[in-house]
Amino acid sequence: MKLCKLIPVIAAAATLCGCGGQHMEQYQMFAMDTYVTLSGYCDRKTLEDAGEEVRRLEGLWSVNIESSDIARLNRDGSAELSAETAGLMSFTLSMSERTGGALDPTIYPVLREWGFTTDEHHVPDDDTIAELLENVGWEKVTLDGRSASLPVGTAVDAGAVAKGYAADIIAERLKSGGVTAGIVDLGGNVLTFGQKPDGSDWKVSVRDPFGDGAAGTLSVGECSVVTSGSYERYFEQDGVRYHHIIDPATGRPADTGLESVTVIAGESKLCDALSTALFVMGEDRAFDLWRESDDFEMIMITSDKRLLISEGIADRFEPDSKKKDYSAEVIRR
Ligand code: ADP
Ligand code: MG
Repeated sequence: MKLCKLIPVIAAAATLCGCGGQHMEQYQMFAMDTYVTLSGYCDRKTLEDAGEEVRRLEGLWSVNIESSDIARLNRDGSAELSAETAGLMSFTLSMSERTGGALDPTIYPVLREWGFTTDEHHVPDDDTIAELLENVGWEKVTLDGRSASLPVGTAVDAGAVAKGYAADIIAERLKSGGVTAGIVDLGGNVLTFGQKPDGSDWKVSVRDPFGDGAAGTLSVGECSVVTSGSYERYFEQDGVRYHHIIDPATGRPADTGLESVTVIAGESKLCDALSTALFVMGEDRAFDLWRESDDFEMIMITSDKRLLISEGIADRFEPDSKKKDYSAEVIRR
């Protein structure tokens, strides 16, 4: 597996371990609908400038900002995109293909109907979902260089990949600006780069979907760790819980017996796209895709409290010994 270079590094999802000597500067902001924490061995101004870049990317990609590339495309049916947006869309569509449509940016009108984009939640009736699904399908999007177009009735949201794509851009920017090591954390979408001055690991905790704290901790090299979970955004109606990861095949929250999927890979955009898609695919299809790939590892937490750990990351994941009701299983190729 290429992803984690053998320099032992680790980021704790938002909690930084102190390390000897040099001070790790930290900058926090709210952007892309989440808490962003940028950390690095550099001055604060460098991190603030990187924060401005996150804000700029949000301005290009948010479906809720009228002037964004994505909002213009949805409104006008065609648009000339910025290079970053064209890159994001092109990558998203390639991941739609790779995941058999489990990731699909054209699911947006369905998400909107459920109220996940506005927080005005409700359960749509069957006919409404069936009607909206007629316009869903990533192959309906035409992208030719920077020119994009959509058929009438189709609209896109790259929200499932945007934070990962942004994290890669921000890390590259910090590295090329001379920052030797740091953590880009966009709401738990974590990317570590470089090596801490004391050579110690970065630590990333994998949240326990059933309670407080972590289900376990990852000790990884320079890489990205991203989790998609049904607990992250949801609402309840008539005692039933509905979460925000929609299966494009049904137009309803993916019901695959999973609580969370954590993906570990070299690039954050890959982690972000896959964590959402693998959640939709469920355990069997997800591990099939893993077996035919060599660019990611994963940890799944099922509704019946099984921790499924792909073998390439097993020696870097330590389940929390206090969480005795979990059973851990290493999945082999
Ligand atoms: P989050 O953005 O909450 O960290 P994800 O990366 O898993 O989590 O992305 C989930 C978001 O992606 C949802 O809030 C929704 O906007 C969008 N989405 C939901 N289901 C899909 C899907 N099947 N394909 C593409 N995007 C999706
Ligand atoms: Mg995602």
